[in-house]
Amino acid sequence: MRCIQDIGQDEGIFDSYVDLLEPTFERQQVLLQSKHFLCRCQRCLDPTECGRYISSFRCPSCPSGWVSPIISYNEKDNVLGRLWRCLDCKQEQNDMIIAILKDIDALKQFLLKKSWSENTAEYMESAKQFEKTLSLLHNNHVLRLQYHLGMTNCLDTMENFKEAIVHCMAVKRIVKAILRVQSGERVECYELMADLYEKFFLQQLGSRMPDAGVDGAASPAPVDKDESVSISTNRAIRDNLEHSNRYLQKALDTSKVCYGEDDENTLLIKDQIKKLTVPAKSATGSN
Ligand SMILES: [Zn+2]
Ligand SMILES: [Zn+2]
Repeated sequence: MRCIQDIGQDEGIFDSYVDLLEPTFERQQVLLQSKHFLCRCQRCLDPTECGRYISSFRCPSCPSGWVSPIISYNEKDNVLGRLWRCLDCKQEQNDMIIAILKDIDALKQFLLKKSWSENTAEYMESAKQFEKTLSLLHNNHVLRLQYHLGMTNCLDTMENFKEAIVHCMAVKRIVKAILRVQSGERVECYELMADLYEKFFLQQLGSRMPDAGVDGAASPAPVDKDESVSISTNRAIRDNLEHSNRYLQKALDTSKVCYGEDDENTLLIKDQIKKLTVPAKSATGSN
């Protein structure tokens, strides 16, 4: 076992039985069924999950309230109850709230059941009908995380790396907002970002040198006739390369902690970093 942050003297060490990216009701249910206890940690007792709001949505009755779950436990039947209430105006589960909950459930079913990899274009088209529902969700809502992850993968498949990076940034932001532990951000997030930046970098480099394949990235970029274009393109390429390197470095740091120095995943990232630094020199040298 490895720790993901420094531990002070006499400080408690915690481990979790559940996926921390799940909302309280889902975590509580897993704990109740598999571990037979009702968790009473700070996050579980707070309807906002200590300011995370990962299952909250805009209140239809007041301007700035968030409708959040109030969870109760019926000891006799050993079941959890969930009542939705606006934390500002205290409005409880009226028809408007129930209608929004239905829309949210439809979005959840779509994200759960529809696979982006089967038909990317169709997936993106179907996702459009959920725009209104998505706009009601809190920025940290767990379904937003799933949505942005799906979009990242779709756009990656369609080789629209620039747009994919924007969605991946949203994924990273939400994971960070929910998990809150800096080094505990998921390795996959960093790897995905690094991968997208790398592809975007190669795409830009490729568009400058039509004859060059992936291997051609290592050869010096030719000097453009229009120097202002050349400098800005070179800068964009270098920026993406730097981003890619930075995210790979973060992925490496996290992987070392989570999986270990000699782990297959860690070695793979090290290898990627080595490969990526080769074109860096030539891109710099061409300026
Ligand atoms: Zn808890
Ligand atoms: Zn309200």
